[in-house]
Amino acid sequence: MAYDDANIFARILRGEIPCDKVYEDAHALAFKDINPQAPQHVLVIPKGAYVSFADFSAGASTEAIAGFFRAVGKVASDLGVDAPGYRLIANHGPDSHQEVPHFHVHILAGRPLGPMLAARS
Ligand code: AMP
Repeated sequence: MAYDDANIFARILRGEIPCDKVYEDAHALAFKDINPQAPQHVLVIPKGAYVSFADFSAGASTEAIAGFFRAVGKVASDLGVDAPGYRLIANHGPDSHQEVPHFHVHILAGRPLGPMLAARS
């Protein structure tokens, strides 16, 4: 799947639409999810143009991958949730219900999060 430069996170990275930023460095931008699923719900995105985790893990440089995942860890620590815990989610593709085609990691925290997956309907 080709990267779509018009996706909403690409537009946030270009500063065309605002976000509630919590962290930024050379490799990553982190901002609050607009529709939070937990008391703390932050999205971390790489600065490069990657559709999803498959694309990022196969195509990004070692430096970009390390920098990105260090940023995820730092954001979680800065949120103060290392001790009570948190969940990371990265949706890839239709079965996962990925909505935005720019790789992102969700950090969810702030309450006991329950089972990993919703009950099958
Ligand atoms: P996913 O289903 O993994 O692609 O998740 C996409 C996430 O992006 C959802 O949790 C949305 O609530 C969130 N989202 C969509 N648009 C925005 C936006 N403009 N600012 C912050 N979060 C957004």
